[in-house]
Amino acid sequence: MTAARQPPKTQPENGLVLFSGGQDSSTCLAWALARFAEVETIGFDYRQRHRVELDCRIAVIARLRREFPDWSKRLGRDHLVDCGVVGQISDTALTRDTAIAFDKTGLPNTFVPGRNLMFFVLAAAVGYRRGARNLVGGMCETDYSGYPDCRDDTLKALQATLSLGMDHRFVVHTPLMWRDKAATWGLARALGGDALVELIREETHSCYLGDRGHSHEWGYGCGDCPACGLRRAGWEGFTAVRDAAEPDNALRRNPTPDRNSSPA
Ligand code: ZN
Repeated sequence: MTAARQPPKTQPENGLVLFSGGQDSSTCLAWALARFAEVETIGFDYRQRHRVELDCRIAVIARLRREFPDWSKRLGRDHLVDCGVVGQISDTALTRDTAIAFDKTGLPNTFVPGRNLMFFVLAAAVGYRRGARNLVGGMCETDYSGYPDCRDDTLKALQATLSLGMDHRFVVHTPLMWRDKAATWGLARALGGDALVELIREETHSCYLGDRGHSHEWGYGCGDCPACGLRRAGWEGFTAVRDAAEPDNALRRNPTPDRNSSPA
């Protein structure tokens, strides 16, 4: 949890990060920038119900460039791929105006079947062309919604399939696979200190309802949907550990008036 961890040695390699503008993929982008000599980003416009994610991508990249000059030098092109076909072939609460619910398998109807598989195939095609063999995604099976295409086994099989199918060695990196949301905040702090935590808190988006009107300690969102619930719980877990180790942080967040210094 400390911010003083030794930064990883930069590898003379190119990385391509699947970057949605959310907390997880923004942390993965920082992870890649701390490792690889050159990093590009790829995002997918699949006619998300709420376009706010696509705006957040631009805001996160712009602020990273402004506040992290060393990373900015390594951050290359951003690719936005039109995946409107996803909206045509699926009927989910992410692409239609439908209430979020859980089906009989226990999966929320925000699940777009095979979405991550499709995204990785497209990322690999771009990576092939751009000379990037390291594909980085924010998938996680620690505190996730049960999406089968986020599972470690799925992505290991996909790495083999992509490498064979394109006759090009790809490495699929999933730095968050075994981290819960609290540990993901901790990773952001280890990589980029409080400035990166603040950037991610303010600029990234998680809420399924696309709510950017309500500000909370953990960021913007409706506060009620499953994505907001996960984000809030993760933030609370992260700050509880951080503030126990560094009580000054807790004081900074909730300053109590000093009675002795009140005006006479
Ligand atoms: Zn929400």
